[in-house]
Amino acid sequence: MGDGKIEDNPKILSGPVLTNSPNAVLSKTLLGRYKDLPLPADRVLATYIWIDGTGESLRCKDRTLNFIPKQAKDKLTRLLEKMNKKYQTQVLEKLKWSHVQEHLPPYYFPEDLENVFEVRCKLRERENRDSFDENLKDLPIWNFDGSSTGQSDGHNSDTFLVPRAMYKDPFRRGNHVLVMCDTFKHNMEPTETNHRLKCQEAYDKCKDEEPWFGIEQEYILLDADLRPFGWPPGGCPPPQGPYYCGVGANKVYARDLIDSHYRCCLYAGVPISGTNAEVMPSQWEFQVGPSVGVSAADDLWVARYILHRLAEEYGVIVTFDPKPVQDWNGSGAHTNFSTKKMREENGIIEIEKAIDKLSKVHMKHIKVYDPRGGKDNERRLTGLHETASINDFSAGVASRASSIRIPRAVAEEKKGYLEDRRPASNCDPYAVTNALMRTCILNE
Ligand code: ADP
Ligand code: MN
Ligand code: MN
Ligand code: MN
Repeated sequence: MGDGKIEDNPKILSGPVLTNSPNAVLSKTLLGRYKDLPLPADRVLATYIWIDGTGESLRCKDRTLNFIPKQAKDKLTRLLEKMNKKYQTQVLEKLKWSHVQEHLPPYYFPEDLENVFEVRCKLRERENRDSFDENLKDLPIWNFDGSSTGQSDGHNSDTFLVPRAMYKDPFRRGNHVLVMCDTFKHNMEPTETNHRLKCQEAYDKCKDEEPWFGIEQEYILLDADLRPFGWPPGGCPPPQGPYYCGVGANKVYARDLIDSHYRCCLYAGVPISGTNAEVMPSQWEFQVGPSVGVSAADDLWVARYILHRLAEEYGVIVTFDPKPVQDWNGSGAHTNFSTKKMREENGIIEIEKAIDKLSKVHMKHIKVYDPRGGKDNERRLTGLHETASINDFSAGVASRASSIRIPRAVAEEKKGYLEDRRPASNCDPYAVTNALMRTCILNE
């Protein structure tokens, strides 16, 4: 190791490397400093993120842009854009070098965008709607090999990535961006796990009702051996009780990871509203939102991505499986939902109407509340461990053993929101919010 050559270390080249292993220490000391290597100011790195054929795992790949995508631009850049060229140069000259690097004027419309516009227009025509976010206009459509992600067979494996939402990149910072995409087959049909399209369609139809979603994402940290992180070798920690919102090294594990995630999300533009330790040691929760319409699910997926990425560095694995350990609480993705009317005076009447509608299509919702048509939730919604049985619909004020809970404060104020406790932690929030909008607002 002394000469610092990675190629000479066989360990580095073999097998998966976890960042808390000696290899990781090596990689941090040897490679860490290259993270600060300045990049040319007119090169922006974009990480395109998408949901693969499992409907629950994320994939990503990076590309260089030779322009700064609109939405991620700093305030200063926007200001500079409005000024005339001569004045711009003067201002830039006065800035310190570090600032200049971050805030150079953008380079729009590179040549390679021309083809992309064609594809996009085709897409627009087909859907006959205007859902493409103007802010993303300058992010190119991209593609990947769908046969390697369970999203196409080998023949026509080019699968398209359409940028839908953009976030600041907390890992690379500067002008670099994370881009949440949805996926289309070679013929521009949506892939089987693209639930975003339907969700956007539902939201477009009920925009005026202003649907808000706040999702509580529970998850569990695993060690490299796939056992819960920090659990004693070969055994279990003392029974559940002291861990929920716990404090102390024997109650909670990896708080620094959780705190980093919180900060990274806020930096990126994901509206995290809170976080807490959960009932099982190494189980945690963060809450996203309230976010409006389809953006709630964009936000949650990007929050999941950031968590997986940070956990790579930390050397632990994040599992969203709804019941990894028998006889302990499972993980859910409680989805809090409101419309404008529910939030107004006496909105409780609207909330009760929505609950009534939900009671009539219980199984229909259960089918889309996990990626396996309800199979995953069968292990979690047992009627025990703060859940209601998967087979019965129930609703109640402040009841954690119901399918739907009306929070105590909502019942008292007679307005607010309802909490759907059924979605599994590995649900696709596009599918969940889509179902809620269609049942409660669109009466489908
Ligand atoms: P719990 O008591 O179930 O643990 P949390 O405090 O963890 O609840 O989460 C509450 C969630 O409800 C948060 O994600 C928050 O953003 C969301 N929320 C709050 N008000 C509304 C509202 N009017 N509509 C939708 N979601 C809301
Ligand atoms: Mn909660
Ligand atoms: Mn919880
Ligand atoms: Mn909850």
